[in-house]
Amino acid sequence: MSDFAADFAPGSVWLVGAGPGHAGLLTLQAHAALQAADVIVYDALVGEDILALAPEETPREYAGKRGGKPSPKQADITLRLIQLARQGKRVLRLKGGDPFVFGRGGEEALALVQAGVPFRICPGITAGIGGLAFAGIPLTHRDTNHAVTMITGHDATGNVTGVDWNAVARGSPALVLYMAIKHIGAIAEKLIAAGRPADEPVAVVTNASLPEMSVLETTLAAAAADIENHKVQPPAIVAIGEIVRLRAGLDWLGAAEGRKLQSDPLDLGRGDSEQAG
Ligand code: SAH
Repeated sequence: MSDFAADFAPGSVWLVGAGPGHAGLLTLQAHAALQAADVIVYDALVGEDILALAPEETPREYAGKRGGKPSPKQADITLRLIQLARQGKRVLRLKGGDPFVFGRGGEEALALVQAGVPFRICPGITAGIGGLAFAGIPLTHRDTNHAVTMITGHDATGNVTGVDWNAVARGSPALVLYMAIKHIGAIAEKLIAAGRPADEPVAVVTNASLPEMSVLETTLAAAAADIENHKVQPPAIVAIGEIVRLRAGLDWLGAAEGRKLQSDPLDLGRGDSEQAG
C-alpha cells in the first residue's frame, strides 16, 4: 500500500478528521498519519480504539473541549500545536468527525497560517452524515428532500441566537443538528412557531457508530421531554424531517440484531422508472 503520509514533514501540523467514532471509519490517510506522527494532540471525541492504531511510544496529548466542563482554552491548544511544530515535530491534530465541520478546525488552521506553520487538512466523516448512516437515516432521499441543513445548536455565545430559525424552518425539509441536546426545547419551539408540524419525526442518535450507540425516535413537540426522560447525554446528533421515517426500512444495524425491518416506510409504492441524471 502506498504511504499516504509520506509527505508529513517534520515541523508541520496535520489537522485530521477521525470520523464519528468507529475506527473503521478512519481514512487511509488518517491511519497513515497515526503511524507517522511524532506527537498526537487529540480531542474528547476521539476514542481509545483509534489512538491504539498509533505506535505505543508515540506521545499523546489530550486537548478535549466539552461543553460546560473545564477544558483547555482554544488559544492554549493552538499555541501548543505551534510550539510542537516549532520543535520540528510531525504534529497530528486529531479531531472528531471532520475537522472543518463545527470542530474549530478552521480556527486552528488560521492560527497556524498566522504563525507560518505548514499544515494540511485531512477530511473525515462527519457525525451528521456517517453517524446518521449508522442509524439508517439517509441525509437525502429524492422523495423527501432535495436539501439538508446542518446546524449547531450551540454557537460561540452558548445559545442559538445566531440562527434564523424561521428561514431554516421554511427553507430546509431536513435538518441535522450538532450539539443541540441542551437547547432542543427552545429549538423545537422556534421550528413549530415557524410552521413545522409538531408531530414531525425526530431522531436523536447518541454515540453514533460506537458499540454504545442508541437512537431515540420522537417528534418535534415531544423531543425535549423525551430527551430528558431518557437521560440522553452528548455526543448526539439530532435529525429532523421525513428522512427520519426512512429508518423504519433502513435500520440495517437493528436488522442485523434481529429487529424486524419494515419495507417502504414512506409508503411510496413507486416503481423505479426514472433515474436522476
Ligand atoms: N467535527 C465533528 C463535530 C464536532 S462538534 C464532526 O464533524 O462530526 C461535537 C458534536 O458532534 C457533538 O456534540 C455531537 O452533536 C456530534 N457528534 C460527534 N460525534 C458523534 C457521535 N459519535 N455520535 C453522535 N454525535 C456525535
